[in-house]
Amino acid sequence: MTPVKLLILGGSGEAAGLARALHGDRRFDVTVSLAGRTAEPARLPGTIRSGGFGGAEGLARYLREEGFKVLIDATHPFADEMKRNAVEAARMTGVRFVALRRPAWIERNGDRWTRVQTLEEAANALGDKPRPVFLTTGRMELAPFKRASQHFYVLRSVEPPLPADLPPRVALITARGPFKVADETALLRKHRVEVIVTKNAGGAGASAKLEAARALGLPVIMVERPVLPEAPSVETVEQALAWLEKVHGSTSSA
Ligand code: NAP
Repeated sequence: MTPVKLLILGGSGEAAGLARALHGDRRFDVTVSLAGRTAEPARLPGTIRSGGFGGAEGLARYLREEGFKVLIDATHPFADEMKRNAVEAARMTGVRFVALRRPAWIERNGDRWTRVQTLEEAANALGDKPRPVFLTTGRMELAPFKRASQHFYVLRSVEPPLPADLPPRVALITARGPFKVADETALLRKHRVEVIVTKNAGGAGASAKLEAARALGLPVIMVERPVLPEAPSVETVEQALAWLEKVHGSTSSA
């Protein structure tokens, strides 16, 4: 049986989970694609490729040239350009396609969320008065917070930001989730954090800070997700595996 070539667009815990779950599965020949932003990405089994494709057309060309039959978009919920390109490339090539889109976090009793659309709005929502802020929106787009320089930032990212991107008053923490509620609570207390800024990434890996904020009565500035094109989608790794189970029969050349 010739294995079916599957491309997973990665950069998320789900992409890593899928790659690990499919390791050793002879029905699929799996390649995980990473953007190449992280110097030391999580170790994954199988073939890894890195770097952009050149838009939707570039991805479509790559899928055709490499003979991929199945495409799974498992990028991070905020990687909206790649997500749009994936939908478009699937349409252009006719490969079997599903987007793994984890549900967004929803506000619960006791939460004190301010919803904003952009990081610029998030920085503005912090106000003029200097405050200790827990900032977990990633190391790539720090400019709005560098401008809101009156605040003290406890900045956590997987890899350290470039020194030139940093706000002037900052405590840097590099760490990769999942995080525990007790640790998040201790961190918020230690730095006397008054407000948290986060993207609505969803999922369990980074949700502990929201539980800690709820328990401590802290406000959260929540950056809402980008609007994405409609696509056939699943929400979990397990559902993606079940979907693969179904498509395998119709794509294999056994
Ligand atoms: P983006 O704005 O949607 O993508 C910008 C460009 O980067 C894409 O058009 C594509 O270039 C390239 N690219 C993105 N993901 C790629 C992948 N998996 N494989 C190959 N090329 C990729 O994405 P982003 O927000 O910069 O995120 C980059 C990566 O980091 C993604 O893989 C994402 O899953 C991960 N990530 C993002 C966030 C976040 O908050 N944005 C958080 C955690 C992880 P071409 O057009 O040239 O193909």
